[in-house]
Amino acid sequence: MHLPNLDEAKKRTSKNNIYKNLTENYPKAYVGKKYFLRTYGCQMNVHDSEAIRGYLEMLGMENTTNIEEATVIVLNTCAIRENARDKVIGFLGKCKYLKKNHPDIKIVIAGCMSEQPDVIDDIMKNHKYVDIVVGTHNLDDLPKLLLKDLKKQEIEVFSNSDEVIEGFNYVRDSKIAAWVNIMFGCDKFCTYCIVPYTRGRERSRKLENIIEEVKSLKRDGYKEVTLLGQNVNAYGKDIGTSFSTLLEEVAKTGIERIRFVTSHPWNFTDEMINVIAKYKNIMPYIHLPIQSGSNNILKKMNRRYTKEEYLELFNKMKKKIPNVAITTDIIVGFPGESDEDFEETLDVVEKCQFDGAYTFIFSKREGTPAALMKDNTSIATKEKRLQRLNELVNYYSNKSNQKLLHKVVEVLILGESEKDSKKLYGYTDTMKLVNVEGSKDIIGKIVKVKITDAKSFSLDGKYLEEGVEV
Ligand code: SF4
Repeated sequence: MHLPNLDEAKKRTSKNNIYKNLTENYPKAYVGKKYFLRTYGCQMNVHDSEAIRGYLEMLGMENTTNIEEATVIVLNTCAIRENARDKVIGFLGKCKYLKKNHPDIKIVIAGCMSEQPDVIDDIMKNHKYVDIVVGTHNLDDLPKLLLKDLKKQEIEVFSNSDEVIEGFNYVRDSKIAAWVNIMFGCDKFCTYCIVPYTRGRERSRKLENIIEEVKSLKRDGYKEVTLLGQNVNAYGKDIGTSFSTLLEEVAKTGIERIRFVTSHPWNFTDEMINVIAKYKNIMPYIHLPIQSGSNNILKKMNRRYTKEEYLELFNKMKKKIPNVAITTDIIVGFPGESDEDFEETLDVVEKCQFDGAYTFIFSKREGTPAALMKDNTSIATKEKRLQRLNELVNYYSNKSNQKLLHKVVEVLILGESEKDSKKLYGYTDTMKLVNVEGSKDIIGKIVKVKITDAKSFSLDGKYLEEGVEV
């Protein structure tokens, strides 16, 4: 048994990555059995779930969306906000009931929550029916644990790792657009964030391995890749290369669409901007979290830039990258945020007129410095601020979408719309969601669409065949 340890997780003792290639094959001990997998949180977790599916299917299992028929239930969890954690704990109630009636099923917890000592305490004391817990650094232990004759709860969470794992047998959600991890971990230690503890130090994959993965996805017919990291523009610092070099090499593979998330404003270089502007297959869309417009709060958050520096970078991107769309993240009600600080945030939104923003009320994460900061602002005040912010953010995202009304745009069609089975959905180069009228044979293609309606969060459009409405 290995238990998580936040002090261990904080340590950045080594700079040497250990590159590990997964070569193991496992016996198909679960043929005829099914698994149910639920994913919480960010794109990194969504992609980790594709690795988890790879392991489960290697053992012979099939996916099910009906939890009642599952032999293995996996919750791939998120620790970034309290409500993500509450959702997992809530869902465990259902798992407990299932386990009571079917003692043979196995319940697994993976993901960032596993790395938090207080969560593990709670699981050990109050959720003894959970069979296996694996950490983010040792996901590759999951098949071994599932093959064990479990006599007791198995908790295997390694809080610190230098490993960069290659060779995951991903079972991807899409055959059109793929996630590609380029690095793991984060060294920024923003004071509100648990990720540097749950995901460890920044470790880059080798450039040649990433390029090989993109080429192989292209050969398999993928149209789009999204390069993935907690802080992609720190890519390569540990191995003597850079994100701009990687981006250029990925562009040269000729894959039709390239995206990347997430960028930190602090080390977004001119070279990166130049490469994005130079290659048509790098999409003109950047998610650039600002978090607050107040220099006072940015300092408390340890974000390493000022409002003025952010605006300078933002304006440079707008000037140099044709037609670029920029979205952001904003936290409201960080400890000590005054009315004046909040007005600074509204001012940034007015100045940047973001294409969209993810807005949140500050959520205290145990073990982070911000959890110990004095916070005198009432929840009612924070909610009012969030409401004002959302009104402004929505106004500008609607304004940005209105600019596309009656225009013809290129959309990569990803599938049938979940809300309306008669429609398809896809994204523009600038990452705007479009619900499209058209036949299913355009799924997987980049097609011309005429925009017929523009709302705050999505667009409606009609597929144009050879420029003609159908
Ligand atoms: S850059 Fe900051 S917010 Fe982003 S993952 Fe790292 S510590 Fe968290």
